[in-house]
Amino acid sequence: MYTTLYTFKEKILKFSELGLSQDILDAIATHSYVEATPIQEKTIPLTLAGRDVIGQAQTGTGKTAAFGLPILENIDLDNPNIQAAIISPTRELAIQTAEELKKLGHDKHVNVQVVFGGSDIRRQIQQLKSHPQILVGTPGRLLDHIKRHTVKLGDVKTLVLDEADEMLNMGFLDDIEAIIAEVPAQRQTLLFSATMPAAIKRIGVQFMTNPEHVQIKAKQLTTDLVEQYFVRTRPQEKFDTLTRIFDVQAPKLGIVFGRTKRRVEELARGLEARGYHAAGLHGDLTQQMRSRVLDQFKNHEINLLVATDVAARGLDVKDVTHVYNFDIPQDPESYVHRIGRTGRAGAEGTSVTLVAPNEMDYLRAIEELTKKRMEPLRPATLQEARIGRINTAVGEVGKLIHSVNTEDIQHQTKQLLEEYSAEQLAAALLADLAGLDKQNAPVEISRERPLPRRRGGSSSNRRGGGRSYGDKRRRGNGGGYRGGRGGSSHHSDRRDRNDRGGNRNGGYRSKSSSHGFTVREKG
Ligand code: ADP
Ligand code: MG
Repeated sequence: MYTTLYTFKEKILKFSELGLSQDILDAIATHSYVEATPIQEKTIPLTLAGRDVIGQAQTGTGKTAAFGLPILENIDLDNPNIQAAIISPTRELAIQTAEELKKLGHDKHVNVQVVFGGSDIRRQIQQLKSHPQILVGTPGRLLDHIKRHTVKLGDVKTLVLDEADEMLNMGFLDDIEAIIAEVPAQRQTLLFSATMPAAIKRIGVQFMTNPEHVQIKAKQLTTDLVEQYFVRTRPQEKFDTLTRIFDVQAPKLGIVFGRTKRRVEELARGLEARGYHAAGLHGDLTQQMRSRVLDQFKNHEINLLVATDVAARGLDVKDVTHVYNFDIPQDPESYVHRIGRTGRAGAEGTSVTLVAPNEMDYLRAIEELTKKRMEPLRPATLQEARIGRINTAVGEVGKLIHSVNTEDIQHQTKQLLEEYSAEQLAAALLADLAGLDKQNAPVEISRERPLPRRRGGSSSNRRGGGRSYGDKRRRGNGGGYRGGRGGSSHHSDRRDRNDRGGNRNGGYRSKSSSHGFTVREKG
């Protein structure tokens, strides 16, 4: 096998130079993509030429379109059979991918369908009768359809494992092998992910023919658009530490990662108790529940999504400002995927990882993989958190004033003003809006088993201090202190893998960054 490393500095090609036909180029233009991202530029010509490709590039750099565009290009509209199958680890990701392919294939009139567990199989069977040329699915449900003969993969020309390292991991491997057995040996196989551990790659290569490994090497594995911090904190203090950071950073849209499903549940409930708009996303929820939570997050009805690693893999939610790792991930690769939920498509983000003193070796392992140091952040004090809450409340007063009709309550307002000073009234309003009474609401988070000690690790105090909250912020968003989001690790989640999915949407600020992203300004 041949591995080619590319760096970002090379000239980026326009889509029109990649050998795509007009109806596909039209759809790309409608999508406001101007230039191909590096992974798209390097893999699209290879894929169009029929090669097997392992595509590896940072999170949020357009891998979906990288495999999607050549697939769409090669679809034969006169052939009513499934010609390309894309396998995703979660329902949410399967849905998101299908949405993107539908958009990009719109002008060519390609029929894209998606199958995933936890939803009515009869309805899916009905939809499958429309003869999709592209099928996206989660492994369990895909196999289910294969067994019922409602999906036939005998005419598949291209098979994609998105988030390939996840798909080839133990939890999914049996299903993947069973699916591959249904696909002709004469096929194109594509693996895409931001991370590709060598052991996993060896498994993947067995399913491929003379693959080309295209690796877009950024300076770091994680995007430099994300400011990465860590906070040392004892396990029993983690929850207080986390909520105080929220109070100071006031994340607009954040993901909080927890290690297990139980932890995700407890965190979501605990955050609600302390007055945040939070909800959990993990594999034990019903499909409806998961869709609802994700929609609420995308509509900003909730601004903190608590998730496990698996549940959040690959999700492309616009404008996620923060990622919070309540638990440090056990695998360094998981970290890359977690913080990759922010800093997407040229946007900026902030991540904060809580680390117990005996987990410092895990932090080091992550930094070794990402080639980037996390900056230490000092935990916020109770008083700083209180001020943070009040400051956020101040921002809400204006909105509130415009939304309240005061005509019929003038008598009562006058009465109050006679009895109390304007200062007293404003203070009471702020305290209420800030939910100060909830700031220290008692919350019980069960202890998780500590991570095993990493070998060769002195979990020393290798760094002390920490950026303080009064520091000058390096970015408008507040180095460390505005925004939030987090995640969890996947091991406990791996078993319930079959189905999660997510949504997407386009449109970000126009920004030509080191990431090779150029997008037109959109609403
Ligand atoms: P990845 O799979 O690499 O994490 P996605 O495929 O989810 O990334 O894409 C991230 C975001 O970038 C999506 O919102 C997608 O629509 C957008 N995008 C993809 N390609 C381009 C491009 N060439 N120009 C601008 N935006 C793009
Ligand atoms: Mg992706």
